[in-house]
Amino acid sequence: MTQGSKGLAKAKEVYEDRSRRAKELKAEGRKIIGYPCIYVPLEMMTALDLVPYRIYGDMREPITEADRGLQTAFCAIMRSCLDLGLKGKYDFLDGFVAAHSCDPQEKAVRVWASLIEHPYTHFLDVPGTLQAGSWEYFKGQLTALKKTLESFTGKIITQTRLREAIEAHNLQRALVRELYDLRKPDPPLISGAETLQVIKALTSIPVEEGNELLRQVITEVKKRKNGPQKKPARLLVWGNTMDDIAHVETIEGDEANIVMDDHCGGSRAYRTDVELTEDLLDGLTDYYLVKLIPPRTFRVAVLGETKKDWAADLESRFGYIGEYIKGWDVNGVIMQLVRYCDPHGFEQPAIKDYFDSLGIPNTYLEHDYSEGALAPLRTRVQGFLEVIGPKA
Ligand code: SF4
Repeated sequence: MTQGSKGLAKAKEVYEDRSRRAKELKAEGRKIIGYPCIYVPLEMMTALDLVPYRIYGDMREPITEADRGLQTAFCAIMRSCLDLGLKGKYDFLDGFVAAHSCDPQEKAVRVWASLIEHPYTHFLDVPGTLQAGSWEYFKGQLTALKKTLESFTGKIITQTRLREAIEAHNLQRALVRELYDLRKPDPPLISGAETLQVIKALTSIPVEEGNELLRQVITEVKKRKNGPQKKPARLLVWGNTMDDIAHVETIEGDEANIVMDDHCGGSRAYRTDVELTEDLLDGLTDYYLVKLIPPRTFRVAVLGETKKDWAADLESRFGYIGEYIKGWDVNGVIMQLVRYCDPHGFEQPAIKDYFDSLGIPNTYLEHDYSEGALAPLRTRVQGFLEVIGPKA
């Protein structure tokens, strides 16, 4: 990292060379634990001075090795993660914690664990429903993760350290929300691409360093004179993880600002806080099982109901996105999915109904998570922007 770089410049540096800081910390004796999605409770790692490091794919890197473990008709993001793992790009990891956030991910991480050795691996099962029994089962899963982490490090996660870690991650969530609020003005004070750069940086460095980075970015962005230009469209992007700023810039172009997002590489991991309950595992259970809202958990409008009111069901599942649309003055929604993403693919017709019920223009764009997918995406985004016209 350049000596003295701060704020957005520092976020860009971390984004462009993600593993550099992790490798520095490893050289100082810290252990780096990879995780592929937002269902992994980072608080437990932080409480043990481990450094959580998110595993991403790379849409610019052709997939040449993953065929050894995963078929081609499979989530390309997971295929890309495995491909990078098999090419040794994540060899510096001391451990790997994955969660059953979706079936493709469950399969991919099982293959990963069978082909790539780390000193420590753990798989966290996550129930697919919120039925009676799910909560206790998942708390048991978190208890098991705590035990294996303690055994790996030879340290105990004390209540004090876990509380401090939860507070540090909650602070990060609050700071990210503050950053996202800076996208409410027209023009927004920070672009979608810059925001993604910050979020990806946060998932590459320890939480305390991330919180300091966020404070710097927020201070800088509030004062900047060179922010995004006013553009006709203010978009919300919904879907699975976006992790490359070229992807975001393809959508923003000259005619749109992405002012809000709901995806696993954006706001989702920061939407709400972990409650500081007396037994801290209760708050973590509630957060990771109930409060996280990617479309991988079956939710009913009212527990125990056998019939659903469709409008009420949509509102209970997606009402928070309606609040985003109002709060960020959104005039168009892009549902973007990587091909073979089952959870988001199954959710898409329902969320389209929800957007239609709000009268918000929306479109669905599928891609294959490759650099070559960007030019066709651009054409389709331009078509959509012509349909919605300039913001009134
Ligand atoms: S949610 Fe979709 S994109 Fe994410 S890992 Fe699962 S299948 Fe892939």
